[in-house]
Amino acid sequence: MPNFETVTVETDLLIIGGGMSACGAAFEAAYWAKKNGLKVTVVDKAAMDRSGAVAMGLSAINQYIGWAAGDNTLEDYVKYVRQDLMGVSREDLVYDIARHVDSSVHLFEKWGLPIWTDANGKYVHEGRWQVMINGESYKVLVAEAAKTALAEMGGNGELFERVFIVEPIMDGDRVAGALGFSVRENKFYVFKAKATIACAAPFTFSVHGPSAKVLAAHGIPLGIPARPLISPSKPALK
Ligand SMILES: Cc1cc2nc3c(=O)[nH]c(=O)nc-3n(C[C@H](O)[C@H](O)[C@H](O)COP(=O)(O)OP(=O)(O)OC[C@H]3O[C@@H](n4cnc5c(N)ncnc54)[C@H](O)[C@@H]3O)c2cc1C
Repeated sequence: MPNFETVTVETDLLIIGGGMSACGAAFEAAYWAKKNGLKVTVVDKAAMDRSGAVAMGLSAINQYIGWAAGDNTLEDYVKYVRQDLMGVSREDLVYDIARHVDSSVHLFEKWGLPIWTDANGKYVHEGRWQVMINGESYKVLVAEAAKTALAEMGGNGELFERVFIVEPIMDGDRVAGALGFSVRENKFYVFKAKATIACAAPFTFSVHGPSAKVLAAHGIPLGIPARPLISPSKPALK
């Protein structure tokens, strides 16, 4: 058994995962943290450029409302989700996501993602909610934006790649960070954080009842002791 070095990292915000949601969280958090002198730390078990479900690229973005153009209303989307999930949906959260999603898509385009447009310059749809993209480099573009935002924080923005989080640190019923190990070096990591956002796909929303069982079945017990860390966000931009 090799000797493992223990590395302790203290941070204000810990973001676990490096996929689409973590990149978005890092980009947004960096903006606010920079203004307030706070530290943001992102930990991904893989390399952010090609990690997560978007690693190989995508050919479409599955949710675009077309809110500003009047194509759909936010209520239309909430209704669609309610029907699709046979009534079992958190409509406040669906509404909140719906009011922000278009501005995220516009940011992706600004960062260089080619989105198909028709002769009138409107996004090409496949179905009501989906827009078509040339998305081979989708994840690389989004990761670049997150990495740049962290780098612009100087010493207050940190990215750890190839560090696998195994367990949250609990302080009573509050998450106070996470434990992990490097998959390349003999290093064990203790991340102490004032706030933690779980963006590592399966455990992100797996915090209650049946979901926790699904989670345990996948052998990923990270989210079970944790509570959902979802809060109302700022007014949406179209
Ligand atoms: C086959 C497939 C096709 C899809 N097609 C489309 C599509 O065409 N259009 C569309 O809009 N959406 C599509 N999606 C959905 C989209 O990919 C997901 O909604 C999105 O990637 C979810 O983002 P996420 O950040 O939650 O998870 P992910 O992007 O999967 O990221 C998870 C991150 O967590 C990290 N991680 C996991 N466990 C740990 C751990 N223990 N410690 C540290 N890091 C960890 C991973 O390395 C990764 O960086 C598709 C999904 C799949 C699987």
